[in-house]
Amino acid sequence: SIDFKGIRENKEAIAANIINRKSTGDVELVVELYEQSVRLSMEVDKLRAERNAVASAMKGKLEQAKRQELITQGKELKERLAGLEVSLAQLSDKLQREGQRIPNMTHPSVPIGSEDVATVRKQVGEKPVFTFPVKTHVDLGQDLDLLDFESAAEVSGNKFYYLKNEAVLLEMALINWTLSELIKRGFTPLTTPDLVRSSVVEKCGFQPRGQNTQVYSVEDTDLCLAGTAEIPVGGMYMDSMLTEASLPLRIVAFSHCFRTEAGAAGAATRGLYRVHQFSKLEMFAICQPEDSEALHEELISIEEELYTSLGLHFKTLDMSSEDLGAPAYRKYDVEAWMPGLDRYGEVSSASNCTDYQSRRLNIRYRPEHNMMRDGPKTKMPAPVFAHTLNATACAVPRMIIAILENFQQADGSVVIPEPLRPFMGGMEVIASK
Ligand code: AMP
Repeated sequence: SIDFKGIRENKEAIAANIINRKSTGDVELVVELYEQSVRLSMEVDKLRAERNAVASAMKGKLEQAKRQELITQGKELKERLAGLEVSLAQLSDKLQREGQRIPNMTHPSVPIGSEDVATVRKQVGEKPVFTFPVKTHVDLGQDLDLLDFESAAEVSGNKFYYLKNEAVLLEMALINWTLSELIKRGFTPLTTPDLVRSSVVEKCGFQPRGQNTQVYSVEDTDLCLAGTAEIPVGGMYMDSMLTEASLPLRIVAFSHCFRTEAGAAGAATRGLYRVHQFSKLEMFAICQPEDSEALHEELISIEEELYTSLGLHFKTLDMSSEDLGAPAYRKYDVEAWMPGLDRYGEVSSASNCTDYQSRRLNIRYRPEHNMMRDGPKTKMPAPVFAHTLNATACAVPRMIIAILENFQQADGSVVIPEPLRPFMGGMEVIASK
C-alpha cells in the first residue's frame, strides 16, 4: 500500500523530487485527496456506529411510537451511509490513481537533470577500427539474408521484423548462453505470461492507459501486453509474505516485450533499434532493504561481465534524475558502441526500485525472530516491505545490432563472439551466401 501518511509528512521533499524527475505526479492533490478520504472515512465510521446503536436499541422491548421512530432513524442512516460509502470508494480510487503517479525518491548520488548530465561509471574496451566502409546492421541483415523488415511491415506494421537464418540461431544462442551464465550465478530461471492484468502493470509503476502510454491493451479485457518480464515476475510475488531466510531471491525471466513506443524520438526508426516486440532475459531480485544497494552493484557487474565476454565496447552510466521513470531510486544503463549507427546505444538498464513496487504489490517478509539472540521476551517483529530490483541481462535486438556491427569483416561476413559458438553448433562466422 502507498504510504500516504509518509507522503503528507514529506510533502516538500516529494514536491522537490517530482520537479527533479520531471514527473507528472501532483503531491498537493494527493495530500488533499488523502485528507478528504480520512475525513470521509471518519464520517462513515461515525454513521456506522450510530446505525449499530439504533439496531441495538431496537432489540429491547419498546413502545410502538419509539420503535417507529428508531425504524425511521435507522432507514435514514442506512441511506446516508450508502451514499457516503459510494463517495468514499470513488475518492479512494482517485487517491490510489494519483498516488501511483508519485515517483520513487531518488538516491542522493543521482545527477539531477536531463540525460546529458548522466555520469560515466565505467568504460570497457575501445571502439574497433575498420579499414573498410562500415555497414549498418540493416545492410548487413539484408546482405547476409538475416533480417526482413519489408514482410514484417506488410504483416504487422512498422517497427516489426523477421529474423532469418543465422539471426535466429544468434537470438537463441544469446538467450541460452546468458541463461546458462545466470544459472551459474545462482539465478532461478522462469518464463512468464506475456499478457498481464492492467492492475499489475499499475502496481509495478507503469501507466497502462493515457495518451503516451508505452503499454498495449487488449480490447474488451483488462489485459495488457507486458513491456518487460519485470511485471509478471513482480506480480508473481504480489501479496506474499516471504521469510527472511529466503532472501535475496534472484530470478532470471525470459519473456517477449511489447512497447507502443508512443512519443519515441525520430532517431533510429529503421532497423532493430526501436521495435514493438522483442525477446529479453531480465534479472529480477527481491531483498531486504539494507541489501538493495549492494545487490544493485551485483546486477550491474553481471551485465558488465556478460558484455565484456562478448567483446563489446561499452560504458556504464549512472542515469540522471529525469531518466529514472517512476519506480527507480537509482538506475545504471549500459550503452554499447554501435559502429554502423555511429553512436552508443542503450543495451541494458539496471534499476533499484527500493520499496516502490513492493508497497504497491504488497511484497513483504517477516524478519527472523531469534529468541536465543534477542531474548525470550521480545515480540515477533512486524513484517517489512522488501526491496525489488530489475536489470536487463539480454535484450536481443540491440545485442544483435552490436554484434553484427562490431564484428563485421572486410569480406562482408560477421564473426560470432566465442561464448556464443557452442550454442550455435560451433559456428564461427556468418558468411555471405
Ligand atoms: P527498459 O525496460 O526500458 O529499461 O529496457 C530494457 C532494454 O530493452 C533496453 O536497454 C534495450 O536494450 C531494450 N529495449 C527497450 N525498448 C526497446 C525497443 N523498443 N526495441 C528494442 N529494444 C528495446
